[in-house]
Amino acid sequence: SSATAPIRATLFPGDGIGPEIAESVKQVFRTAEVPIEWEEHYVGDQIDPRTQSFLTWESLESVRKNGVGLKGPMATPIGKGHRSLNLTLRKELNLYANVRPCYSLPGYKTRYDNVNLITIRENTEGEYSGLEHQVVRGVVESLKIITRQASLRVAEYAFHYAKTHGRERVSAIHKANIMQKTDGLFLKCCREVAEKYPEITYEEVVIDNCCMMLVKNPALFDVLVMPNLYGDIISDLCAGLIGGLGLTPSCNIGEGGIALAEAVHGSAPDIAGKNLANPTALLLSAVTMLRHLNLHDKADRIQNAILSTISEGKYRTADLGGSSTTTDFTKAICDHL
Ligand code: NAD
Repeated sequence: SSATAPIRATLFPGDGIGPEIAESVKQVFRTAEVPIEWEEHYVGDQIDPRTQSFLTWESLESVRKNGVGLKGPMATPIGKGHRSLNLTLRKELNLYANVRPCYSLPGYKTRYDNVNLITIRENTEGEYSGLEHQVVRGVVESLKIITRQASLRVAEYAFHYAKTHGRERVSAIHKANIMQKTDGLFLKCCREVAEKYPEITYEEVVIDNCCMMLVKNPALFDVLVMPNLYGDIISDLCAGLIGGLGLTPSCNIGEGGIALAEAVHGSAPDIAGKNLANPTALLLSAVTMLRHLNLHDKADRIQNAILSTISEGKYRTADLGGSSTTTDFTKAICDHL
């Protein structure tokens, strides 16, 4: 028995393939003897008036109390009178940064084999403020909000991340030549924070040029920080560089140090319940959660076991061109551990 008390973490298995891939995470964590005790919460089938969504207040309290959690994909039910699940989580937990590590998986051939970058997306404002209206017939307006507070907060997170993860460079991605006020303020905040981190190289790259550089040579980048909409697009572009959404983990960082890791993909209703889903993205998301908890030994062991399994090529799920089931693939990872 271990001398230290287990760490409690919230687990939302989610919908569709969610419970199958969450089971895979639980099994891999048990095998690796990760000192985590899961507090499982499911999306309810009724609206909780306290959250105005199908997420219960108790489940949000669980994340707030534990400070860490893992989230499977959630299918937002269609209908009026409730908030989207992801929006509820983002607002209620103040998840201000979305962090996506993106690195080539050895043995899984894509166009590039040298990708190793991190995108950090501001997640609360920018073009996603939801402030759109019609000015007159035929003319609509959308307000892009950039605040000093949110920009400093995400920039601070990016530089802190770079420093604590042995990264050398932070690139702020922008279009300040056109969006002079909004992106201009974002850049100003990044510069201010950069001054506090003289050991980290800071650069500014215009979004269009950034896209070209990424597809020509992704090795040019290290840590990228950017406003909401650019982050949405660039982070998917980066996922594509390494083989798609089935492989890409992410972690949402909230006020007060909350970390809610999640796979980037959805609930995949077409393959749900068939034991076909690839659990890699959720597993690697769980690894980012372990790193957030400074459990780097466990994180490294699990990450290596996943990468070795994929690289060997004997057990791969259908999305990676193999014929293994979720459970066979998971067992192969556990055997590596
Ligand atoms: P999706 O990501 O669920 O599926 C797109 C395609 O990718 C499907 O063919 C699916 O089979 C495949 N796929 C996705 N994940 C896979 C995995 N782990 N292994 C193997 N194949 C995988 O996207 P969608 O179909 O547009 O959305 C389905 C539902 O998921 C919707 O209700 C949507 O709202 C929800 N969604 C949730 C999130 C989230 O919770 N963060 C994100 C995206 C979509």
